Amino acid sequence: MSVTNDNCEMPRAKGEPGGLHIGVIGGGQLGQMLGLAGVAMGHRFTFLDPAYEPPAAAIGRHIQAEFDDAEALEQLAVECDIVTLEFENVPLASAAAVAERNCLMPGPQALAVAQDRLEEKQFFEGLGLGVAPWVQVDSVRDIVQGVAHLEGASILKTRRFGYDGKGQVRLADPAHAAHEGGPGNPGEAASAWEALGGAPAVLEKMIDFEREVSIVAARSRTGEIRFYPLATNEHRAGILWQTVIADDEPLQREAQAAARLVLEKLDYVGVLAIEFFVRDGHLLVNEMAPRVHNSGHWSVGGARSSQFENHIRAILGWPLGDTAPAGAAAMLNLVGRMPDPEAVLAVPGTSLHDYGKTPRPRRKLGHVTVTGPDHITLESRLDRLRALITPPEAG
Ligand code: ADP
Ligand code: MG
Repeated sequence: MSVTNDNCEMPRAKGEPGGLHIGVIGGGQLGQMLGLAGVAMGHRFTFLDPAYEPPAAAIGRHIQAEFDDAEALEQLAVECDIVTLEFENVPLASAAAVAERNCLMPGPQALAVAQDRLEEKQFFEGLGLGVAPWVQVDSVRDIVQGVAHLEGASILKTRRFGYDGKGQVRLADPAHAAHEGGPGNPGEAASAWEALGGAPAVLEKMIDFEREVSIVAARSRTGEIRFYPLATNEHRAGILWQTVIADDEPLQREAQAAARLVLEKLDYVGVLAIEFFVRDGHLLVNEMAPRVHNSGHWSVGGARSSQFENHIRAILGWPLGDTAPAGAAAMLNLVGRMPDPEAVLAVPGTSLHDYGKTPRPRRKLGHVTVTGPDHITLESRLDRLRALITPPEAG
């Protein structure tokens, strides 16, 4: 499939005032926040999303259609000045169709890599970046052999469409598992394979990490790059629970070097996030997201320019904004159940974002950001917030 993106002349002559019409594939909370940032800069938005009233519909026009609806994609491409996306599983054929008629940023190449965990791992390895040991899985036999080869506990992940821990099964260390039923046993391997619907997968060694971090970076179409501070992320039941921005010079440098390689190799334009495991004080790449990212939500209010503002600035070729934090900052996700807003907002330095979605178990419904003058103050505010908010595994 063609992965060209040739229609990316500057959407407006340099210096010419006036907002643009920005099309977004996807209309979830990320689209909503892109819209909030973009409307403030004078732009207007159209979102393509199959949901009836997705979060972004509150901010701009909504075309209700499937992501492979040729007519809707054409409408978006023809009517908008530029098109971007807020989720990585846009079908490649749809991305190509839009890129044929308009400028799609980020382009189809980044999507192709990010949509397939196998291609993604090979891409990182090709850049010389470390990843968790892994094997390709296309059968139960591959799982049995892979478990033996990787040694220790492992995690089976579908190559495509996984998110928030969906499309994953964890396999215990065969040395510790009961002999008969352990994952080296064909019965256990078969049930893991079935649990993922027999989809092509990768089996990864479970990394006994010290912590998880991510970096959010923006690259403008001019080539300018800015990095946000590294975020330390805590997941529960495979879902992001808490992000606290870190202040770690050596790891920041390592993450920035990795992100720069990725951005430049893909000739990437927009905001991109990379998730890492920290082990022995160094980084192993877990995965990337060619879009604004949950671990960057703290930047709304926590940095001079948010990741959403910088994504818009990047795709338009505008100068990027300051990514430095104003102080200590953190975020908690609201998963499955919303807390009492008044109790949350009574904690100093706190903002509440409600995506307006119908509650469902394991569904991200909103988030809370909190800032503080220093880490000690921030931690005590976080303690108060964590007492009010149901963590993902219980939500
Ligand atoms: P997604 O975010 O797309 O659901 P991830 O690959 O990021 O998928 O997995 C979700 C979470 O599961 C990770 O953030 C991490 O906490 C845990 N996890 C995934 N792979 C591994 C691994 N190889 N070792 C240890 N933990 C892992
Ligand atoms: Mg992840």
